[in-house]
Amino acid sequence: MTFPRAALAGLICCAAFAAPATGQELTDEQAAEAMDFAMHDAAFTLFHEIGHLLVGELGLPVLGKEEDAADALAVILLLNDASDEIESFNTLIDSADGWYFNAVKSTGEGLDDLSFYDEHSLDIQRAYAMVCMMVGFNQKEFGETADIYEIDKERQESCAFTYQQAANSWTTLLEPHFAADAAGAGISISYEEAGDFADFAAELQDRRVLEKAAELVVASFVLPRPVTFRAALCGEANAYYDPDAAEILYCYELAANMHELYVENVVAQADEAAVK
Ligand SMILES: [Zn+2]
Repeated sequence: MTFPRAALAGLICCAAFAAPATGQELTDEQAAEAMDFAMHDAAFTLFHEIGHLLVGELGLPVLGKEEDAADALAVILLLNDASDEIESFNTLIDSADGWYFNAVKSTGEGLDDLSFYDEHSLDIQRAYAMVCMMVGFNQKEFGETADIYEIDKERQESCAFTYQQAANSWTTLLEPHFAADAAGAGISISYEEAGDFADFAAELQDRRVLEKAAELVVASFVLPRPVTFRAALCGEANAYYDPDAAEILYCYELAANMHELYVENVVAQADEAAVK
C-alpha cells in the first residue's frame, strides 16, 4: 500500500524551520510542509481533547469507547467548521495520515507491538475511521483520499451512514448545551515557556491554534465553568483533558514528534525515490 498523501491545494505556508532531530536538511518547502503537518495534527488533537472536555464538563453519556467518540467529534467539528474549509479539510487529511504513519512505525516489529487492550483503538483503525467519516460527509472532497486508503466503493458508500449516525448522536447529546442567547463560561489560553521547542510554540501562537479551537467551543456550547487551554512542556509527546484542573493541556513535544514523523515518512521517502 502506498503512503496516503492526498493533501488538497491551498496549504498555508510558513517560515522555514530548523533541521529536525533526524539531522536531515530540509528545503524551505519541505520545512513548511512538515510544520503544516505538525500544526494540523495539533489542531486535530485539540478538537479530540475537546471531545473529552465536553463529555466531562457537560456530564454526557458515552456508548462505546470514549476515545473513538472523541475522534468522531473532532472530525465532525472540523468537517462543519465553515470558517476556513480548506484548512479544516487539510487538517483532517494530515491527521489521518499521522495515525497511518504512526501505525506503520509501530507495526514494524510485528503484532506483538500492538496494544490491543489500550483505551484507544489502534492507530491504523483511527486513521481509517477518520477517512470513512470524511468520505461519508463529502464523497467529492474526500473520495480521492478514501481511494488512496484503499477503502472499497461499497464501504465508502456506507460511510455516509457511519458519519450521519455519529453526527446525529453527538448533536442529540449536545443540543441542550448549544450556545444560543446564553453565553457560558469562558476559556483562557496560556502558552508556557517552550525551551528547545520554541519554534513550535511560536507557530502555534502565530496560527492561533488554541485560540481558534477555544473560540469555536465558546461560540457553540454553554460551558458550566471556566476552563483553560494550555500549551506547555510535558516531558512526553501527548495531550490531555484534566477534569480536576478544568483544562486541556497540549504538549509542545507532540508537535515536534509529528514534525519528525512527517520528515521520516514523506520527506525521507521522497528523497529516497529521487535518488533511485
Ligand atoms: Zn483521548
